[in-house]
Amino acid sequence: MQIVLIEGDGIGPEVTQAACRVVAAAGVKVDWVKAPAGLPAAEQFGEPLPEETLEMIRRYRVALKGPCTTPVGKGYRSINVRLRQGLELFASVRPVNSLPGIRTPFENVNLIVVRENTEGLYAGLEHEVVPGVVESVRLITKPAAERIVRFAFELARHRNRRMVTFCHKADVMRLSDGLFLECARAVADDYPFIQFEEKPIDNVCLELAMDPSHYDVLVMENLFGDVISDLAAGLIGPAGPGGGLGLVPGANYGHRYAVFEAVHGSAPDIAGQGIANPIAVIRSAALMLEHIGRGEAAARIERAVMKTLEAGVALTRDLGGTGTTATITDEIIKHLQS
Ligand code: ATP
Repeated sequence: MQIVLIEGDGIGPEVTQAACRVVAAAGVKVDWVKAPAGLPAAEQFGEPLPEETLEMIRRYRVALKGPCTTPVGKGYRSINVRLRQGLELFASVRPVNSLPGIRTPFENVNLIVVRENTEGLYAGLEHEVVPGVVESVRLITKPAAERIVRFAFELARHRNRRMVTFCHKADVMRLSDGLFLECARAVADDYPFIQFEEKPIDNVCLELAMDPSHYDVLVMENLFGDVISDLAAGLIGPAGPGGGLGLVPGANYGHRYAVFEAVHGSAPDIAGQGIANPIAVIRSAALMLEHIGRGEAAARIERAVMKTLEAGVALTRDLGGTGTTATITDEIIKHLQS
């Protein structure tokens, strides 16, 4: 089976290579089709996300992606925003759960953050009204609002989750989040067997910091989702640079295409040293396998990662160990086969 591989830049090639090794060791034969993006693509093609890369994903439907830097100051638009908009990847999903062997203030985090990916303040509709005054449009449309909330409920249904919380600020943004909230309530009516909760985003932040176990599936617009996704990753990660970034997987889904990627950036401070934590990309690859109907291999990979963390052997520096990208990958593969 052919799947697009975007290695990206910085630690991207190191961690995606580790993920490919693990997928192969799980017994899934993938013919990776490499597609350029990030700094190397900007240098080679004058464009960090060449149209050919989008075309390849359209052809093969599924991609695994490493972190890509959008070069600053040359008028390039964010690679991630272009990918999401160009492929209509309307839902970003980030499962965040407590992990064995990693000590954090909470031991019972088990959240899935679902973020609307195409609208809100990240729609990119900004303009200068007069010098010194700029305006950003917060775009909310009924079809996109209904679509993302339905996606969250379907995900909750398929994964046997108990509750969906819609996060908003409808008391202040009465029109935009008012519409979103109305749509969320209407969709929730179709799922009486799943608990529905609506909460102001500031309350959600407070409660996540105090007792994240209350929450299950959270759904929200783009900017709120961006912030809450990182907050959630911080709840399960070790103290120190990167926190949980090297551990949390991510997926972007549309009706036709899906792109799986870790939530961390290209970490230029440690690039090329072979010490990056590949777990986030490996777990993203597991989500990818689940998506293409290889749920059994995905579950085995996830279990092998948990066993590796539990054993605490060969952990990378961000996890308090002295292991390398290669040694922790070897360890995961060992557990996969045991
Ligand atoms: P971006 O703007 O692309 O998100 P950033 O600099 O804000 O990039 P990251 O590139 O994710 O964020 O890096 C933040 C910190 O986390 C850095 O110290 C980096 O070394 C660390 N980090 C990120 N990912 C990993 C990883 N997979 N393994 C180890 N450390 C990581």
